[in-house]
Amino acid sequence: MNNSKPDRTQSRLWSERANSVILGGVNSPSRSFKSVGGGPPVVMKRGSGSRFIDVDGNTYIDYLAAYGPLVLGHAHPEVMAAIRSATEDGILYGTPTPWEVEFAEALRAAVPDLERIRFVNSGTEAVMTTVRVARGVTGRNKIIKFEGCYHGHSDLMLVAAGSGPSSMGVPDSAGVTESTAREVITVPYNDIPALEQALDRFGDDVAAVLVEPIVGNFGIVPPASESYLADVIDRTHRAGALVIFDEVITAFRFHYGTAAQMYNVHPDLFALGKIIGGGLPIGAYGGRQDIMERVAPLGPVYQAGTMAGNPLSMRAGIACLQVLRQPGIYERMDRLGEQLAAGILEAAAAVSEPVTLNRVGGAFTLFFGAHTVRNYEDAKRTDGQRFAQFFHALLDRGISIAPSKYEAWFVSAAHTEEDIAITLTAVEKSFKALQD
Ligand code: PLP
Repeated sequence: MNNSKPDRTQSRLWSERANSVILGGVNSPSRSFKSVGGGPPVVMKRGSGSRFIDVDGNTYIDYLAAYGPLVLGHAHPEVMAAIRSATEDGILYGTPTPWEVEFAEALRAAVPDLERIRFVNSGTEAVMTTVRVARGVTGRNKIIKFEGCYHGHSDLMLVAAGSGPSSMGVPDSAGVTESTAREVITVPYNDIPALEQALDRFGDDVAAVLVEPIVGNFGIVPPASESYLADVIDRTHRAGALVIFDEVITAFRFHYGTAAQMYNVHPDLFALGKIIGGGLPIGAYGGRQDIMERVAPLGPVYQAGTMAGNPLSMRAGIACLQVLRQPGIYERMDRLGEQLAAGILEAAAAVSEPVTLNRVGGAFTLFFGAHTVRNYEDAKRTDGQRFAQFFHALLDRGISIAPSKYEAWFVSAAHTEEDIAITLTAVEKSFKALQD
């Protein structure tokens, strides 16, 4: 982690090979460096604690955290031991197992509103199914979602705002039909009047309002008021629709439970993923028993999965939750997050770089621009080019963050005071480099 630009020849070579066999060289578009000026992404080969190492042997302090799941850092010994021990017993049975029961019990003990739970394999599946359940239960078709929130890549979720607030959606991806897009209404986050307007207009047809309670997908953006989420729930219920909280990023991120609990609110359904799998593929959905009982085999809403509840993910998830129950773990992430955020703001001020930092606990987004970010429009107006320069300046100094101005930095339980100090030195140098 010195100042000379690291040699990334092997990364470039692997990237070239990847490009000729894996579509676009990546298995998820957000891993490409397209949003930060292009070029080959860094190819990693090993992770340990707060660091990972690329194929050239360069070490990076990792704040990407695999886009969220790695709340314990890389290769946490207890999670690794659980996975190793799970592999001794064979890895897939296609039958019920004790671990899925134990894991579901642990989740419900933490989040009592998860009266009944189903495990799936990804956040995408979890959200997609909650929407189907809401439609099945209400007999209504439309979904209201919030502009800029990401809920996975199912057809219905790849719909963006139309021409104005509370307008019908337009497909955000080729291959999503206009008829699908017509089922989705998009409103700005942190804007109760816009939600009310949408409910007034479409309310009788709305099956559910789907929200990331603390947004993670146009940067970290919390509710602008303490009552915002309660108001969302109240207005939605008054229209006879259900409320789905997409807590794929937020669950077990800020405390041992959900964002709903932080705001003392009770959505009808939850979608979970990322952290709960301890780094293995996972998704889960759950909520009110009377609603969940409408899912097969008890009810008419169908959902299934060959890999759902697989023993490896269950046992990794149980181990991850066990570690997260240790006292002080979230307080520490919060404190280190606060230290890092304060240091970043100080370094920005020292060179008069206008920035905004939104932080909740150990997760934050540094936006380039002086204005408050409360919704997607605000986030869009921040400076992506400046972010891209900063991203590369950091990467060259051994600090890895997500290659997009809309993503978060995640401080994990594995980060140390020393990591924060090293990061802040790199941050200072990177801000200075931007001024040249
Ligand atoms: N919901 C939210 C809030 C997410 O951030 C994501 C992924 O980033 C998803 C759903 C989709 O999860 P997955 O990538 O596991 O399908």
